[in-house]
Amino acid sequence: MGIVIKSPAEIEAMRRAGQINARALYEMSLAVRAGVTTLELDRIAAAVLARHGATPAFLNYPNRTYPEHPYPAVINASINGELVHGLPSRRRLKTGDILSLDCGAIHGGFVGDSAITVPVGTVSDEARRLIATTAEALEVGIAQCVSGKRLGDVSAAIQAYAEERGYQVAREYTGHGVGRDMHEEPDVPNWGKPDRGVVLKPGMVLALEPMLIVGSNALYTKTSNHWTVATVDGSLCAHFEHTIAITEQGPDILTKWEETWTK
Ligand code: MG
Ligand code: MG
Repeated sequence: MGIVIKSPAEIEAMRRAGQINARALYEMSLAVRAGVTTLELDRIAAAVLARHGATPAFLNYPNRTYPEHPYPAVINASINGELVHGLPSRRRLKTGDILSLDCGAIHGGFVGDSAITVPVGTVSDEARRLIATTAEALEVGIAQCVSGKRLGDVSAAIQAYAEERGYQVAREYTGHGVGRDMHEEPDVPNWGKPDRGVVLKPGMVLALEPMLIVGSNALYTKTSNHWTVATVDGSLCAHFEHTIAITEQGPDILTKWEETWTK
């Protein structure tokens, strides 16, 4: 299908989906504390989406490896050494955990996709530094989302920022184009070489999602639930994501929370 270019009106529709998604992440983040289960957080996200007439993009998402197990929840809630696709459960969060919350909202026919990693109470210095560096790697990638730059500039900037600070990036999971489908072309890897790949143009919309790992970036999928991806060595990892439109005026973050917009 190739890369789908969005009109300015379509980008505004995507912003609405993105802001609903941002609201879901925000309300979940307020509820994160020791003793809360990730299923409770999932219900909060479901309620925010329903309140705004949005539907969950993750629910029933097909599973490539285990086709009989489509995704059964609204969010991914990945704890500590879990990288992505953490299945919400009755597991209670503990002080010192770090939690990646990833959500997708469909509104007006478009998907908003974004993720944050939050600490549960007081966390280790290592965890705090990992979270901060991953958030910064996203900002560094967004700064490259400029018309005329190339996809490799985005990927290389994220990789360099992570590796210069001693982290590895996940290789098996990438950012992606986003629009009417959650996963459109192109893939947006968190590694690459500058000045390579697709030339960025206004109307492209990309989900950037750096995933940084303290130890080895070898990953496995938990067979117990067919979804949760975790580090083999159990080392901590973090994940942040924004949906970004390339515009003549520079990168436009569609999943930014605008407090003036809506409750
Ligand atoms: Mg996501
Ligand atoms: Mg995504």
